[in-house]
Amino acid sequence: MTFRMSLFKRTYTYLFITITLGIVTALNCFANDIWTISGLCFNRFYVVPVILAAIVFRIRGGIIVSVIATLLILLQAMLGWHIPHFSNTIIEIVLFYMVSLLVGHMMNQFERNQLKNHQMEQTLERSERLSSLGTLVAGIAHEIRNPLAIIQITTETLEEKIDPADELKQYTSVLKEEINRLNKVLHEFLDFTQPKDLSFSSTSVHQTLEKVLRLSNKYLKEHHIYLHTNFQAKYEVISSAPDRLKQIFLNLIINAVEAMPTGGDLYITTESNADDISIHIKDTGIGMSPDTMKRAFEPFYTTKETGTGLGLSIVSQIISLHQGHIHIQSERNKGTMISLRFPLLYDKKEGASHAA
Ligand code: ADP
Ligand code: MG
Repeated sequence: MTFRMSLFKRTYTYLFITITLGIVTALNCFANDIWTISGLCFNRFYVVPVILAAIVFRIRGGIIVSVIATLLILLQAMLGWHIPHFSNTIIEIVLFYMVSLLVGHMMNQFERNQLKNHQMEQTLERSERLSSLGTLVAGIAHEIRNPLAIIQITTETLEEKIDPADELKQYTSVLKEEINRLNKVLHEFLDFTQPKDLSFSSTSVHQTLEKVLRLSNKYLKEHHIYLHTNFQAKYEVISSAPDRLKQIFLNLIINAVEAMPTGGDLYITTESNADDISIHIKDTGIGMSPDTMKRAFEPFYTTKETGTGLGLSIVSQIISLHQGHIHIQSERNKGTMISLRFPLLYDKKEGASHAA
């Protein structure tokens, strides 16, 4: 919930603004009618609802309440309630508008800072969790890797010795399949702990994407996925470890395909400005529930029977090492769009080189 909404409930604010406007107007009325004290005027207190509106509804709110206050002051002058000093009144009215602009702007700035701090806290929390889990996982994965390699070699030797017609053969192929699956999981576990040793070089995002798509072509066809690409980014060279960049794209493409079990469309687009390149990977799959969206980056969080739940945590870890950013938009049964943003290596003015 934003600061704006949590500070005051909107309705209470409307009520409070109306009441304070009413009170100031009533005070002016009393000053005129009952006390008949010439010159006593409470117009400047209209600044209270103006400030409140600017805090809660920002510049626009402050300006609207300033306009209302101006109209009330004009109305009172027309009714001849009091004869305030013309120049003082004008200064007061101008002040209302200035206060609206100032307070509204300060509040906008404040909210922006709050949002930035919140995002930084989340990134920090995520990377802390990942690094402690990473150490644990690395230890276990290394322990499993050696016995698994022995099991694999033994199974292959066994398979060679078994007659192809023998029904035992089917057991060895099950064994091999499961070993491969374990190897894949192990591989992901180790990747999860290793992306720290990256060697960065200037990398073309488009060329990397094209390489990954060439590799995935057969996989996409087998799953009845129609690929649509639109690489519009004018500047697309980033500082990256190319293999890790490939890993990011591959993970996201695999997730997209897995979200479209009966086939669908996969859109991959890029765009750039002077500072960043954005890559959008959009599918027409099952989408994510709000809970999944919240937890998708958690290590080991998966909704799939054979998932490891490490894909997106690895992706987000690699992206943060690139000073990049990842964002999910998803709707149940409509699809998901994952957007990535990376800082460009060269900016426009220095003349971007497009080669990797
Ligand atoms: P895994 O793929 O092993 O489950 P990930 O970390 O890659 O692990 O993804 C975590 C979860 O996020 C998935 O289990 C899935 O529920 C959800 N998810 C990721 N990508 C998509 C997508 N494109 N569409 C729908 N859900 C997705
Ligand atoms: Mg995955």
